[in-house]
Amino acid sequence: MKLKYGEYLWHNEKFIKWNDAHIHVMSHVVHYGSSVFEGIRAYDTNQGPAIYRLKDHIRRLKDSAKIYRMDVPWNVEDLCQACVDTINKNQMGACYIRPVIFRGFGTFGVDPTPNPIETYIIIWEWGKYLGPEALENGVDVCFSSWNRMSPNTFPAMAKTGANYMNSQLIKMEAINNGYVEGIALDANGFISEGSGENIFVVRGNKILTPPISASILPGITRDTVIHILEDLGYEVAETPLPREIVYISDEVFFTGTAAEVTPIRSIDKTPVGTGKRGPVTKKVQDEFFAIFSGKRKVPEDWLRYLHKRM
Ligand code: PMP
Repeated sequence: MKLKYGEYLWHNEKFIKWNDAHIHVMSHVVHYGSSVFEGIRAYDTNQGPAIYRLKDHIRRLKDSAKIYRMDVPWNVEDLCQACVDTINKNQMGACYIRPVIFRGFGTFGVDPTPNPIETYIIIWEWGKYLGPEALENGVDVCFSSWNRMSPNTFPAMAKTGANYMNSQLIKMEAINNGYVEGIALDANGFISEGSGENIFVVRGNKILTPPISASILPGITRDTVIHILEDLGYEVAETPLPREIVYISDEVFFTGTAAEVTPIRSIDKTPVGTGKRGPVTKKVQDEFFAIFSGKRKVPEDWLRYLHKRM
C-alpha cells in the first residue's frame, strides 16, 4: 500500500523533509522501546477540515510522557498548534496525525535519562483501519491467547511504543488464524481490549465496557461513545466483563481513532447477535459521524478547525 504522506514533518519546533527524518541506530528507543505517541484524525467537516479532540489526545500524550519521566519542553497548546501547523504546512485536510516523543541518541545503557528527548509530528492519509467494508458489515475476531499487560508491569494508561509489542502478538496471532483482530483478556481473565481498540457490549438497554482497571488504554473514542450512548438514553456501565458475555450479547463493537466505531459480527466463529451490524451500533455510528457533518453538537474544543469555512 502506497502511503500518501505529508512531505514536511515537525521535529523539535522545526519543519524537516520526509527524506531527512532519520534517527541513529544507537537511539535509546531502538534498543529499549522508549517512546510515547498518539494517533489523531483530522476530518473533513461541513465547516472545513478539523482535528478531532486534539487537546484530549495531546493531554494523553503529555500524560504518557509524564509516567515515563520524559521532560517535554512544550505545553499542550504548543503541541496542539504544532499539529495544526504541520497539516497547514503540507496543505492537507483530512488525515491521520502521529505525534511521537522518544529517547534519542546520547549514550548507551538502560537508564534513559542521559538521552535527548525527540519530538516529531508526522501526518498521512489513512482510510478505514479494519478494511473498507468493516464499518457496515462488521469484522470477525477471536479471543487472543495473549493477555494485556498485568497491573504494575507496563502501565496501560500510557500509550507507549513498548506496549504495542503486546498488541503485535495479539494482532499477528489473530491474522495468522484468519481473523481481523484479537480481543485480549486482562491478567485476571476479564475482557480488556483489542490490539488497538476498546470494546463495548450491548445487552438490551444496557451497555457494558471494561473499566480502566482492566489494563485498557483510556480511549478518546470510548469517551465520545459513552457520551453518545448516554445522550441516547442508554445506561452505560464500566464494569469487569467475563469472556463468555460476548457470546450471549446482542451486539459488540470496537471503538478507536483508527477503527472509529466498528461492529464485531463474530467472535471465535460464534455469530454476535444476528451476525450483522446491530441497531445500537448503527445509531452510535450515525451519531459519531454526525459530529463531522455538523448535525451533532459537541463541546467547542472537540473540533479544532484548520481553516474555517464561513
Ligand atoms: N486501545 C488501544 C490498545 C489502542 O491502541 C487504541 C488506539 N489508540 C485504543 C484503545 C483506542 O483509543 P482512542 O479511541 O483514543 O484512539
